[in-house]
Amino acid sequence: VLESSRMRNLGRYTEPTALEMRRLAATLCGVRPEEVLAGNGSDEILGWIFQTFFMDASVCYPDITYGFYESLAVGLGIEHHEVPLKDDFTLDVEALCHEKSNIVIANPNAPTGHMVPVEDIERIVAADPDRIVVVDEAYIQFHNESCLPLIRKYDNLIVVHTMSKAYALAGAHIGFAYGCQDLIHDLDCVRGVMNPYNISDITMAVGCAALRDQAYLEAHVRDVEEARAYATTELRELGFKVLDSRTNFIFLEHPYLSGEEYVRELRERGILVRRYPSMKRAENYVRITIGTLEEMQAVVAATRSILLCLAA
Ligand SMILES: *Cc1c(COP(=O)(O)O)cnc(C)c1O
Repeated sequence: VLESSRMRNLGRYTEPTALEMRRLAATLCGVRPEEVLAGNGSDEILGWIFQTFFMDASVCYPDITYGFYESLAVGLGIEHHEVPLKDDFTLDVEALCHEKSNIVIANPNAPTGHMVPVEDIERIVAADPDRIVVVDEAYIQFHNESCLPLIRKYDNLIVVHTMSKAYALAGAHIGFAYGCQDLIHDLDCVRGVMNPYNISDITMAVGCAALRDQAYLEAHVRDVEEARAYATTELRELGFKVLDSRTNFIFLEHPYLSGEEYVRELRERGILVRRYPSMKRAENYVRITIGTLEEMQAVVAATRSILLCLAA
């Protein structure tokens, strides 16, 4: 990739609209390049969205979700509130239909791994055309149905994708926003003011190569799903409540082992996992990212030894 012809021109500024990569992404998603914006990861895209549309408005998101929404709202001084997930950690579609603020939904959600059907997203988007609904589909490539086709039907919907998860390219940091031409145009104006050369030629070369290699993506997704199925089954057998996941992580808790203790004991065995003490309702839960099958076998073995020590 680094020997491609574009790489010989690093002394020059990049083509500022990232057109080649947006064309590829558009084709894969069945939309036009004018309906796509490229960013340095979906985090940058979310930043443009908040700055473009939410500054003089308000925004809401579930109480258990991706923490960056809160971080952006607080950092930019945007009025915000949480709409609690239901008791089983599923999305409260009814509450969101009645919501007057702009809405951000991760679907599938992080860190629960839960997915709501496209019909539910459509109900929320259609309920009030005066607020914008952002659907963050960071994990969509794990065989989940995208609500992307709805951008043709609703001009208050923005769909966000990333190459950090299923494409395994977090280090390249590439994300996309999809929406009607007017919304994307507004976002692009803000991007042009804040960071007109946001996608470097190096990033573009990596992104284009990966978008052209869908076979690699599919193989990686298959490996993750296989390791996820293994880890879910084994950890359930060890007594964990493991939520059904549509992503590259699992979210779990154990009746006799606190989340805090589990994280600490795994760390002592060289395995790093995450918990969310600030999300009160989920404070006993632990998120484990799915690695290779061998890595998940190591997680299961370590967990078994932790539970044995606990029982002793
Ligand atoms: C990982 C993640 C992101 C950030 O992705 P980047 O493209 O790496 O910035 C955004 N939203 C959700 C829900 C994520 O899980």
